[in-house]
Amino acid sequence: MSKPRHPLDKPRHPLDKPARGPRTSPVGSALGPGYSVANSNTRILGPRPSALPHFQDRTPVAPAAANLGLNSDRLRLQMVHRLREQGVADERVLSAMQAVPRHLFVDQGLASRAYEDAALPIGYGQTISQPWVVAHMLAVMCQGRTPARVLEIGAGCGYQAAVLARFVPEVHAVERVRGLYDQARLNLAQAGVRGRVRLIFGDGMRGLEHRAPFDGIVVAAAGVKIPEALLHQLAVGARLIAPEGTAHQRLILIERTGLSSWHRLELDDVRFVPLRPGTQT
Ligand code: SAH
Repeated sequence: MSKPRHPLDKPRHPLDKPARGPRTSPVGSALGPGYSVANSNTRILGPRPSALPHFQDRTPVAPAAANLGLNSDRLRLQMVHRLREQGVADERVLSAMQAVPRHLFVDQGLASRAYEDAALPIGYGQTISQPWVVAHMLAVMCQGRTPARVLEIGAGCGYQAAVLARFVPEVHAVERVRGLYDQARLNLAQAGVRGRVRLIFGDGMRGLEHRAPFDGIVVAAAGVKIPEALLHQLAVGARLIAPEGTAHQRLILIERTGLSSWHRLELDDVRFVPLRPGTQT
């Protein structure tokens, strides 16, 4: 018989379990086309082979950000086409990414590269996530669901929040670096979605208790472990997607299956900036 737990024992993380058995849980079977369980070991560091149609060779990119406005519809169409080829099938996500001007979320000097399938620097040692990663995470999180309220941890320059805001009525996005939070506010206003995103300056590792529960949570920075507060702020039946790990990271999909039960599935290998506690002013 196991020893009774002392009431003052630190409660275990809800996802803690003995290290044994398969890495996948039944939630995997619900992943559907394009997101097979067999895929869960696939490395996606950098663009996949199908992601390399030499897009810049085919389409000359305007050197100046000012000119990009004219070409950006076409460049986005190509980006969305490439995302489809890479297996993203969720039309809500694809049309949102078709609509959001990614070049407005990066520094002018990088605007001509905004539609490449690459993460780009946004200052403060952070990056705007690669389009495929954004699309994949949102599609997996929303699969089979119509989320009304979503929480994003790690707003960065605001791009992913803007994409979410195209099809989710209530988006809350938390950023811990003051300068990025300020930049995201400007970017979201410039992209015309400021009113639809509630941007919060703070430590997203604690979640956003007073707005919980969420129909979806997406974390854009990698912690050693997914913060426990986030698991509790997920509505039953909803999904959280987050990178986990340090040198070696994996995308983790969590589905809350009951008041005190969660299913966990490990997906692709990824590379994200670290999830850090506290704020930076
Ligand atoms: N969502 C962005 C990605 C930004 S990179 C996009 O659309 O491309 C990840 C961001 O997470 C960084 O800006 C970093 O400052 C932020 N971050 C890291 N730890 C955090 C925390 N505890 N709370 C909130 N944001 C955090």
